[in-house]
Amino acid sequence: MYKRMLVLRFPPEITDKPIVCSLSREYNLCFNILKATILPGQEGIMVLELSGYKKNVQEGLKFLRVQGVKVKSVGQEIRRNDNLCFMCGACTGICPTRALYIDEDTREVIFEPENCKACGLCVAICPVRAMEIRFSTEKVLS
Ligand code: SF4
Ligand code: SF4
Repeated sequence: MYKRMLVLRFPPEITDKPIVCSLSREYNLCFNILKATILPGQEGIMVLELSGYKKNVQEGLKFLRVQGVKVKSVGQEIRRNDNLCFMCGACTGICPTRALYIDEDTREVIFEPENCKACGLCVAICPVRAMEIRFSTEKVLS
């Protein structure tokens, strides 16, 4: 099973279309909506886990782009400011996906953005605000 963790941006003119449902119906994909802000007349943002056969996932992503949806991996939308991070490790205990963990040999805190689900817990717990998520889903519907 191939999985992608994605941030989708929907231009205002397509937020009323059932685009995400087509991923299941036409491309046989499973999706899990982790966060979403979809309001009429505004850009919509959705954090989505997409899984299925790799070819189907790729076709589904192509479909999204043709519909006008901007697709990015979550890893492109979250980053750690290494100038601020002082390796305290507080975020590693709270990260549900082990995208943040302590290397047992070096004792450094490692960040692997490809494992991140953009839950935002590390952003809230970091004492120096070293973790940054570039998109906002403040009006969360899910
Ligand atoms: S946003 Fe959530 S999943 Fe991503 S690194 Fe932070 S705690 Fe882990
Ligand atoms: S909580 Fe902040 S400062 Fe501490 S290891 Fe995590 S990112 Fe670095």
